[in-house]
Amino acid sequence: MRVHISIDMEGVGGVAIGADTTAGTPQYAQCQQLMTAECNAAIEGCFDAGVSEVLVNDAHGTHSNLLQELLDPRVSVVRGRSKPLGMLQGIDTGCDAAMFVGYHARAGGGDGVLSHTMRSRDLADVFLDTLPAGELRLNAVLAGTFGTPVVLVTGDDVLCAEAREVLGDVEAVEVKKAIDKYAALSVHPSVARQRIREGAARAVRRLGDFSPYELEPPVMLRVRWSSTSTAALCANIPGVTRVAPREVAYTSSDFPTLYRLLRVFLSLAASAVAADPYTYD
Ligand SMILES: [Zn+2]
Repeated sequence: MRVHISIDMEGVGGVAIGADTTAGTPQYAQCQQLMTAECNAAIEGCFDAGVSEVLVNDAHGTHSNLLQELLDPRVSVVRGRSKPLGMLQGIDTGCDAAMFVGYHARAGGGDGVLSHTMRSRDLADVFLDTLPAGELRLNAVLAGTFGTPVVLVTGDDVLCAEAREVLGDVEAVEVKKAIDKYAALSVHPSVARQRIREGAARAVRRLGDFSPYELEPPVMLRVRWSSTSTAALCANIPGVTRVAPREVAYTSSDFPTLYRLLRVFLSLAASAVAADPYTYD
């Protein structure tokens, strides 16, 4: 049995403010250790339950956060940001289960710790058809496209509630409670790791309970930006429709196409922000 682990950083126990997750800050190195230890806990839980192979994808920021020397030696690791399937690179190689560790709640869905959707300060909301879509739903659909169910999600209480809403009876491990977007009440790291290890093992043993998460095709990707300028830029892509001054949409029956398009949108948004960092339209 083969498991794919996508690991983010905002949902790791102990992480509470943006500086914790940003390379170059005084506390970043400590949070890399917390992230790596939670990744190991999930890996250990997998092998406890009889998994034969685990593939880890570093999925935060530059996608180069995990301390590789400290990782469980039984895994392979995808590192680096330029990859077509982004946070789930490798999910198309035949995985029996997907685990989302250290994940965070979607933008605007509540007071989740460091809640946001993808990497753009300009992105306000993402929808798949009429469903609000954070990273959890987007990545769950992508995994489902390849026939892989999401079996474990770990993060704060808001993320766990979002996971149950999107995925139903998924194993959802809570390692902290959100006080505010920028404040958290975390359990001790050792407790977080124990919960994750046990949750991962439980999830693997319950594999038969889970189904791939799928949406009826075709699916419309709709993105609402803060800036009209970013919406205008994205609408230059053939086939992309500007459905409102701040919104663009594209419909496809092939979900990986939508996922890749969203990543292109984000690159355009980054260039728009860089071109005029003082725009407030
Ligand atoms: Zn992240």
